[in-house]
Amino acid sequence: MREKEIKERKAIKKPYFIALWLMIIAVVGCQKTEPSNTSSNTPSVHQTAEPIEEKQVRIHFIDTGNSDAILIEQGEHAALIDGGDNNDEVLVVEYIKKLGITSLDYIFATHPDADHIGGLDAVISQIPVGQVFVGNGKATTKTYTDFIEAIMRKGLSPSVPLLGKTFNLGDAILKIVSVAHEKDVNNCSLVILYTYKDYKVLLMGDADQSIEQSIDVNEIGDVDLIKVGHHGSKTSSHYDFIKAVSPEHAVITCGEGNKYGHPNQETLDTLNKLNIATYRTDKMGDIIFDINSQGIQLYTSNPLKEDGVITQNEQKKNEILNEDKFLSENEAVVETFQEIGDSSHTVVYFTKDGKRYHKEKNCSNMKDPIVGTIDEVGERTPCKKCYN
Ligand SMILES: [Zn+2]
Ligand SMILES: [Zn+2]
Repeated sequence: MREKEIKERKAIKKPYFIALWLMIIAVVGCQKTEPSNTSSNTPSVHQTAEPIEEKQVRIHFIDTGNSDAILIEQGEHAALIDGGDNNDEVLVVEYIKKLGITSLDYIFATHPDADHIGGLDAVISQIPVGQVFVGNGKATTKTYTDFIEAIMRKGLSPSVPLLGKTFNLGDAILKIVSVAHEKDVNNCSLVILYTYKDYKVLLMGDADQSIEQSIDVNEIGDVDLIKVGHHGSKTSSHYDFIKAVSPEHAVITCGEGNKYGHPNQETLDTLNKLNIATYRTDKMGDIIFDINSQGIQLYTSNPLKEDGVITQNEQKKNEILNEDKFLSENEAVVETFQEIGDSSHTVVYFTKDGKRYHKEKNCSNMKDPIVGTIDEVGERTPCKKCYN
């Protein structure tokens, strides 16, 4: 029951977020919040993102709980690295669509674990995709079969990229810096280095320390931002590796109160010791980085809690947290939205020609059920079996 509630809550959060910045624009009248007097490497924090400027880079760590879904966009170009878990599929699809993204140049499925590929079948079914790349290894799970079937239905052929292979995304380059074939499927993770101008972002998938050791850190150099491996577990993020790639910022994708204890204290200690500003999706919701002429800017969808940012450098922490006025205005708006609270974004299932929509995916043995929201059911009426 609780799980279902969480699922529903998650499903409605994203539209709030988007609607939220539309309201902010109304409230603050498009006024640009000046970035605080920060160095180019310290992002100012805004709770909500402003509309993206043309050709600007925006990287979204979508809050899908204890799973990964990372969207990178620039102008007309976008790539998705992992797509959350099975129960995140509506959330991820809606997140992408609400940004006005109508196609994805690439999908990278870092490895076959459900918390990385679970939502990708829905994304592939509903959003045109140029190419799909996968890591080595496969799974015998239904999630994996759904993923492969969705790819096949679209006439795409997934391939495993070669080590060192590069892909253009707008003015940026994505480079595969690990594509191992190991027994532990986490270590099959595609590790991806994103480079835009002088900025580098390293996306570790679920790779552990043995993979970190095999990565050519000299070739990578210093990065600005790292998505640490395996949701902050202690099997990843070895001190020497993190020190070698020397990020300014770290993102941990983890779910609130997850059963795995992610992120591990050891990982947090490592990042702390190296004075890396660390952002967690369980504390901050969606975490969005803009890279533009002003440097890196950070936005989050949740009212910022101080313990969402971890860094020992008090001055840096205060710089990151000093957008008090903006935050308090936004909190009022968040409350307004929570009061309105509607169910139109609840996940439902139906078929193309079916007259009913269902709460349960498996109800009535639906063939190729469409995953949607109540907004999208049209004339269909609720199934009596599911909603009695
Ligand atoms: Zn994972
Ligand atoms: Zn994994």
